[in-house]
Amino acid sequence: MECLFCQIIDGKIPSTKVYEDETVYAFKDIHPMAPVHILIIPKQHIASINDVNEENSAVISHIYEVAAKLAKELGIAEDGYRVVSNCGENGGQTVFHLHFHLLGGKKLKVEMC
Ligand code: AMP
Ligand code: ZN
Repeated sequence: MECLFCQIIDGKIPSTKVYEDETVYAFKDIHPMAPVHILIIPKQHIASINDVNEENSAVISHIYEVAAKLAKELGIAEDGYRVVSNCGENGGQTVFHLHFHLLGGKKLKVEMC
């Protein structure tokens, strides 16, 4: 079965797009856990942080540039926010296409685990 997020990038599954460029796609999480909950993903299929390497890691720094830009545009930059990438079963990853949650718009819980 084809990857869910690859199908979202291809437009085969609908999403609420908030940003797109050559290498990155960002859209609203379907089950938001905060007033702002965006997923930022590389267009290239990378399953998880475990698969980041010298050849594909440039997109990660670009994703953080996009996160900073979106945070400013969405009005959460000043108050603060969180960028999270869950990895594997213990990390709580449910979709195996690398993604970064951009969460903000409220005071987030302090607990990390
Ligand atoms: P994770 O648990 O870190 O792998 O995050 C996967 C995220 O993808 C969850 O927050 C889901 O709510 C979100 N998600 C799953 N399917 C969709 C979809 N079709 N559109 C938008 N977000 C989705
Ligand atoms: Zn994929």
